[in-house]
Amino acid sequence: MKEIRMVDLKGQYDKIKPEIDKAIQEVIETTTFINGPAVRDFQSDLEKYLDVKHVIPCANGTDALQVAMMGLDLKPGDEIITTSFTFIATAEVIALLGLTPVLVDVDEKTFNIDPEAIRKAITPKTRAIVPVHIFGQCADMEKIEKIAKEHNLYVIEDTCQAIGADYIFSDGTRKKAGTIGDVSGMSFFPSKNLGCYGDGGAIFTNDDKLAQQMRIVVNHGMVVRYYHDYVGVNSRLDSIQAAVLKVKLQYLDEYIKARQDAADYYDAAFANHPKLVTPFRDPKSTHVFHQYTLVTKDLDRDELQKFLTTKNIPAMVYYPVPMHMQKAYQDPRYKEGDFPVTEKLSKSVISLPMHTEMDEEQLKFITSSILEFANR
Ligand SMILES: *Cc1c(COP(=O)(O)O)cnc(C)c1O
Repeated sequence: MKEIRMVDLKGQYDKIKPEIDKAIQEVIETTTFINGPAVRDFQSDLEKYLDVKHVIPCANGTDALQVAMMGLDLKPGDEIITTSFTFIATAEVIALLGLTPVLVDVDEKTFNIDPEAIRKAITPKTRAIVPVHIFGQCADMEKIEKIAKEHNLYVIEDTCQAIGADYIFSDGTRKKAGTIGDVSGMSFFPSKNLGCYGDGGAIFTNDDKLAQQMRIVVNHGMVVRYYHDYVGVNSRLDSIQAAVLKVKLQYLDEYIKARQDAADYYDAAFANHPKLVTPFRDPKSTHVFHQYTLVTKDLDRDELQKFLTTKNIPAMVYYPVPMHMQKAYQDPRYKEGDFPVTEKLSKSVISLPMHTEMDEEQLKFITSSILEFANR
């Protein structure tokens, strides 16, 4: 059996090696390392794929979120509502900009931000909501957009885990994750569903004015060369990464299908198991399975992880510590017990190997090993 990995980037590369190597070589031969044609080409291909007006490439997903908030001109003291169950970057950029993160709990089934909890957290200082499409399935965007309109709030989607997912509105309309709110941040970190060979990111928006402002922000706040009207940042997607992404974007739908097939296999193996809850499939969204995450019940999650390690099966806990329990984010407003769903999930979730190169032999071994532990 092939070695089981959480993510198999080498197996994926081997299948498209000639195309990738050629694309990288072209950037080197033309020495167009920064803002070269590869960046523009990838940008326009991604705009078409997502059906969004503006893709603004940048250096990573964390920067993408930060630039979005800078572009919206959010000011210190403004309250930004986000989820307590996410990767740290979401809250980090809010804190770095001197904004006030307001955490709310998630829905038990989808692990996504709970719209009713958002409603309760709104104050006169609230300016924006940051839903995170966690593990590859969209947050309840229709409800979130409705709340945002009622209270005149911006919606900043954290799409880092969900590129390619479709959100399905109640009238049947479909939109790609990251194209629904005012603006959205995306990461091309290698292990993400559309990953480059280093760091990379992008911001998506349909708003012309905001796009123009964010293009200024990512380029040192520069409007005319060497005239800086704003305090900006330096955040670029380099041409070699863009060249890799342009090739891989052509395969994104295939990659999503491979992940969904692996997820279907897992689902079938664990169906109706009393100790293993398979991921909820929300009818309002397709699921692109950045992670395949089980919730364990009456079972020692950490022992299961150790048991799998002895069988050379990697498994990860995303995320073991809720945002409000992180040392750097201690806040007198929050204490243990405030976000019961998040706290319960952080103690009971486990994510299984999930990538585009999973084969049946591996899936069979992983599922039978988990069942062996759960059934004993
Ligand atoms: C990966 C990720 C980020 C950060 O992306 P980087 O490219 O690593 O900066 C932000 N939010 C979420 C939910 C992520 O998964």
